[in-house]
Amino acid sequence: MNQLSCTVLVVGAGPGGYTAAIRSGQLGLKTIVVENAKAGGTCLNIGCIPSKALIHAADLYSKVLESASEKTKFGIHSENPRIELAETIRWKDQIVHRLSSGIEGLLEKAGVQRVQGWARFIDGKTVVVETPDSGPPMEIRAEYIILATGSRPVELRDLPFGGKVISSTEALSLTSLPEKLVVVGGGYIGLELGSAYQKFGSKVTIVEATDQILPNFDAELVRPISRRLKQLGVTVLTGAMAIGMAEDSKGVMIKTADNSISELPADQVVVTVGRAPVVDGWGLEELDLDRNGSAVSVDSGCRTSMAGVFAVGDLTGEPMLAHRAMAQGSLVAEIIAGKRRRWDKVAIPAVVYSDPEIVTVGLSPDQARQEGFEVIEGRFPYSASGRALTMSDTDGFIRVVARADNHLVLGIQGVGADISELSSAFTLALEMAARLEDIGETIHAHPTRSEALQEASLHALGMAIHI
Ligand code: FAD
Ligand code: NAD
Repeated sequence: MNQLSCTVLVVGAGPGGYTAAIRSGQLGLKTIVVENAKAGGTCLNIGCIPSKALIHAADLYSKVLESASEKTKFGIHSENPRIELAETIRWKDQIVHRLSSGIEGLLEKAGVQRVQGWARFIDGKTVVVETPDSGPPMEIRAEYIILATGSRPVELRDLPFGGKVISSTEALSLTSLPEKLVVVGGGYIGLELGSAYQKFGSKVTIVEATDQILPNFDAELVRPISRRLKQLGVTVLTGAMAIGMAEDSKGVMIKTADNSISELPADQVVVTVGRAPVVDGWGLEELDLDRNGSAVSVDSGCRTSMAGVFAVGDLTGEPMLAHRAMAQGSLVAEIIAGKRRRWDKVAIPAVVYSDPEIVTVGLSPDQARQEGFEVIEGRFPYSASGRALTMSDTDGFIRVVARADNHLVLGIQGVGADISELSSAFTLALEMAARLEDIGETIHAHPTRSEALQEASLHALGMAIHI
């Protein structure tokens, strides 16, 4: 058996693992990262990046179709547009390949050794890696371990993956368009991919168990999304559970809140009911780490219950977001390198790339009240924004939540076209402990949709100019 040793061993090269490895390398620690699949993990290969590529292509296509139709508003006419999904998928694959190779290059630049294969722990300092070319296994010993094994899609017992039933991974690589697509789960992935496939031309039905799509977001934020889904022709069934495929496999059986059972015809069924940490197959039982549900428990330094073993990313549970995984990854590398660091983030932004997009940072008005704050709120609708009007996308608003006594901003949320790009401004405001006056008195360029942030802050102070 080949043997290697290092200071830091990272298992998994997704956003959590590759960031930890690059930062460890930059800090001069001898670092090895083991990855079974491709550098970049779920996010880059079968998650954030490919989904956003398809969402963008679908959006462009629907705008081109609109230009070709009688309904065109801009005076643009293009004849007979059509989509070749296989070409779109090839373009998406090129982006993924480019970024994955880029991560390999960054690891190399930081002096990190990459080992391809599946890592399995034999004790808290040693892993054995089965290499894909069936060569001899490799034993790696390390002073510190960073676990970053990520997550995988949750499978429904009555609707297992296989045949027509697929996960988000396969939904990102379909080369022909399903005529009727049933999406089970109206959360992040269901909304993002469901809207994209409807725009490509499928007839999409979203089946959501709770009484609202995106149940983790407040109703005010979700309303513009519901309006747009209706306009696009997506059927949304809330309070409905998928309970299995029909006997002839031509549809999905659905049970609604009143216990009635019906069949939804489907050419393809995408199950997007959440993701679960990858805790099996790599020897977690050898380490016997404390758990929080199925996730591995960590403290404010991402330390697990075993000395010298850290965990980052989706393995550590919600929120399962790439930017959280990356922040944890660099935090751990710096702790191992001897820096005094701990998780002290005020807020982790959450963005849904639905149509229109949602951003939430910090506390919503209800959450702030539940935490005992007396709050004031300000809102600015995009219908009053000059820039939004010139871009013909006026549905949505920005909402700012602040303490009533000292005007400290507790949360900023918004919904609107391309609002994802404002998530950094929202988060920066919270991290810098901004008060309403700080945002209200910052000059925002005109005409931009970002002016809605300034106006919402002024609105909370009773000083809005444009509403
Ligand atoms: P992962 O990215 O899952 O990486 C874990 C890696 O570890 C994998 O490459 C796996 O092969 C490897 N591995 C596991 N076990 C072993 C082992 N024993 N040996 C060797 N290798 C191993 N998040 C966002 O913030 N924004 C988005 O827009 C977004 N969109 C998404 C869209 C979809 C369709 C999906 C599925 C997810 C999306 N996410 C998004 C979530 C995001 O992908 C995850 O939060 C992120 O990838 C977590 O990073 P991670 O490093 O913890 O794990
Ligand atoms: P999710 O938790 O966002 O949504 C799952 C939905 O499925 C929920 O609304 C839930 O009520 C519903 N559900 C559960 N069981 C059901 C059933 N039997 N029938 C019908 N509905 C059912 O999960 P997801 O969409 O699979 O995404 C997984 C995770 O990936 C997210 O939580 C997020 O952390 C991450 N992600 C993030 C982004 C982003 O940041 N833009 C995008 C995609 C995924």
